[in-house]
Amino acid sequence: MTLNNIEIDTLVVGAGQAGVAMSEHLSKLGVPHLVLERKRIAEAWRTGRWDSLVANGPAWHDRFPGLEFDLDADAFAGKDQVADYFEQYVRKYNLPVRTGVEVRQVVRNADRPGFTIETNQGVIRANRVVAATGPFQRPVIPAIAPKDDGLHQIHSAAYYNPEQLPAGAVLVVGAGSSGVQIAEELMRAGRQVYLSVGAHDRPPRSYRNRDFCWWLGVLGEWDAEIAKPGREHVTIAVSGARGGHTVDFRALAHQGMTLVGLTQSFEGGVARFQDNLAENINRGDENYLALLDAADAYVERNGLDLPPEPEARKRLPDPACVSDPLRELDLAQANVTTIIWATGYGVDFSWLQVDAFDANGKPQHQRGVSKEPGVYFLGLPWLSRRGSSFIWGVWHDAKHVAGHIATQRTYLAYRDREQRTADEQQPSISNVSTFGAH
Ligand SMILES: Cc1cc2nc3c(=O)[nH]c(=O)nc-3n(C[C@H](O)[C@H](O)[C@H](O)COP(=O)(O)OP(=O)(O)OC[C@H]3O[C@@H](n4cnc5c(N)ncnc54)[C@H](O)[C@@H]3O)c2cc1C
Repeated sequence: MTLNNIEIDTLVVGAGQAGVAMSEHLSKLGVPHLVLERKRIAEAWRTGRWDSLVANGPAWHDRFPGLEFDLDADAFAGKDQVADYFEQYVRKYNLPVRTGVEVRQVVRNADRPGFTIETNQGVIRANRVVAATGPFQRPVIPAIAPKDDGLHQIHSAAYYNPEQLPAGAVLVVGAGSSGVQIAEELMRAGRQVYLSVGAHDRPPRSYRNRDFCWWLGVLGEWDAEIAKPGREHVTIAVSGARGGHTVDFRALAHQGMTLVGLTQSFEGGVARFQDNLAENINRGDENYLALLDAADAYVERNGLDLPPEPEARKRLPDPACVSDPLRELDLAQANVTTIIWATGYGVDFSWLQVDAFDANGKPQHQRGVSKEPGVYFLGLPWLSRRGSSFIWGVWHDAKHVAGHIATQRTYLAYRDREQRTADEQQPSISNVSTFGAH
């Protein structure tokens, strides 16, 4: 069935967790809407993650309020279980999601209110458009990547398992949650691994019988509206793998991984690393210890009965690769055949041709309400707070955005006394369309 000439109040683009949450809230508020998804519901969880990936937060935490995982509350859902969860959510709330429909262009109408949307299944019109196309749309590989045909180079988005890689050692660039988990999986599969470590936060997986997600919640960290100065681009290294464990770079090195500083350049088959490995590791420790201190203070202040855990403060000795770090690596000599770029993602809003961006193409919005009336963003990192791009955080942002849309509709549905009198005299036109000006 084609979508040609459909008119809808609100169009939501993307049916990942953001689009699903948006649809739930719009449904609850009675806003007519449609969600278009170019592939399948929660496709990023289905095919955009490696095979063994589990959620970074436990099942009790990384979910929407309306449905629990069919798992032990403290377990970590596998990526397919997360995708199944969102499919189940769509069924449970009977949400209007159409899959296999790609939105190719959105433009503001010149001659009437609203937007014209071009899709691969026809042209539709909507009063409002919510861009829920994800925080991580376009894998980013930095320009320093070597132009060496002999090397197998992939972004972490294209990594699935150790078997897909050619034999040999692997250099993993980036030690956020993706890089460190992939590096550990490769090491456990018997590969020689070099892991390039930049600035990172490194919360304990759990402390005093509470997961770090709980601590960040009670300490108000998930609700932080802006990153601490200088920490805006600092990645967070956590892992739910094998039941969940604290990321400890020194422990990984003692098990055989070679840690190196930030990757600086490649020239003539030689990789060069910055002299900042120890500093990055130490700052990660500071972040770890600061959370333990804040947790202890919270326990004390609230008189909680949570068992002390002094061993969490013990630190392994610096491994040789930290105390005497490699600054150069001859890739051929070290038998490095693969580089995995775990260097993050960018966004691509080329399809959204409206006045909602700054000169650098960055979305301009306040808590998701863009500067172009009728255009909304959802799911972006720090959209309203630290939790915005995470499963449970996006649900709260969606509630705010849906509330804004419902309020706008109320304004537009308003009829002044004269109009009301006219409506009463002509009942046939009293069914006012809310397809109106913004
Ligand atoms: C490796 C990794 C692990 C993560 N683990 C966790 C975790 O454990 N817990 C957690 O809370 N968060 C986690 N996140 C962060 C975040 O939850 C996920 O990135 C999540 O997929 C974001 O959901 P979203 O709906 O905003 O975007 P997406 O899941 O990316 O969904 C956007 C959807 O929009 C569709 N789309 C895009 N463009 C168009 C178009 N033009 N027309 C139609 N459809 C379109 C896409 O196909 C996609 O399905 C992780 C992220 C990564 C990268």
